[in-house]
Amino acid sequence: MKPLVLLSTDPVLLGQLQSAFARSAPQVPVVLADDPAACEAEVAACWFPPAGSLGALPNLKLIHSVAAGVDHLANDPHLPALPICRVVDPAHRQGMAEYVRWAVTHYHRDFDLAMAQQQRQQWLRHPQRPAGDFHVGIMGLGSLGGAIATELAAAGYAVRGWARSEKRLDAVRTFAGPAEFDGFLDGLDLLVNLLPLTAATRGILCRDTFQALAPGAAVVNCGRGQHLQADDLIAAVSSGRLRGAVLDVFEKEPLPLDNRLWTTPGIVITPHMASCASHACIAQQVAENVRRLEAGEPLLNRVDPTLGY
Ligand code: NDP
Repeated sequence: MKPLVLLSTDPVLLGQLQSAFARSAPQVPVVLADDPAACEAEVAACWFPPAGSLGALPNLKLIHSVAAGVDHLANDPHLPALPICRVVDPAHRQGMAEYVRWAVTHYHRDFDLAMAQQQRQQWLRHPQRPAGDFHVGIMGLGSLGGAIATELAAAGYAVRGWARSEKRLDAVRTFAGPAEFDGFLDGLDLLVNLLPLTAATRGILCRDTFQALAPGAAVVNCGRGQHLQADDLIAAVSSGRLRGAVLDVFEKEPLPLDNRLWTTPGIVITPHMASCASHACIAQQVAENVRRLEAGEPLLNRVDPTLGY
């Protein structure tokens, strides 16, 4: 079997993935870019591949993201025009659901207000709102957003979902495409972003989007940092138009120390921790696509290059 090459600017991750392949897919020989055998590789498994590294592999046939997203491949400006696949891990869905459930409860049950009150040693109860009166909108109804929308609806929330194409999900009001975006946003109490980063979705969390939500709504960004226009969010939260935001992803990670998002009251920062595919699952899914490539079978979780996800 030809070697698989691991490409990333993160040396810690490279070591973790090498161990994961050795444990969970030992049939696949794995090398790093500086190994002379790398030039034989037909598959590269990547997370932020160094610029130029993919183009330097003469026998490459498949670029595999080790994540759900593929936008990090743009780290290499000379990306060869080859098939791209991504990892879709059921445990990913579970992790993201846990994170989003926490954020929904945080705002629905006014934990944000209680925590701010504690700073002032203020004892104040707010009327309890039924879940059915709390309107949650999920942007992106793919492998993550679709499952989370259905789960929140089953928990009693008033859930809307928005995707590029039409969807049917139990107890979720669905909207499709740019023409239905305003109807989707109108009066939401909480907006959750689970879109992939593409030319069509970059900057979508902006002033106009925030204005369409209910006054005092909140925003959760689990997609990518480039979805958010940070100055618009800081202005909306600082003015009270939005009550707050939970942000997991940032244009530059780690979030630079001088970024105002760190210190704006009402904004919660988490270190891109919403959900990670397990290293074992990454190794198994990449290995399965290596097998399929060699056998000439259709690849799993292939990205549509015209859509960018
Ligand atoms: P999928 O590709 O399965 O789903 C993407 C969804 O977004 C689809 O429903 C798609 O619509 C919709 N969509 C794409 N473009 C548009 C558009 N222009 N307008 C409206 N809807 C659009 O992705 P996943 O659910 O697996 O993951 C989503 C993203 O979550 C990832 O790309 C990644 O950025 C992020 N992520 C973040 C993590 C974290 O820890 N913070 C962890 C994992 C993922 P349609 O169904 O019609 O194609």
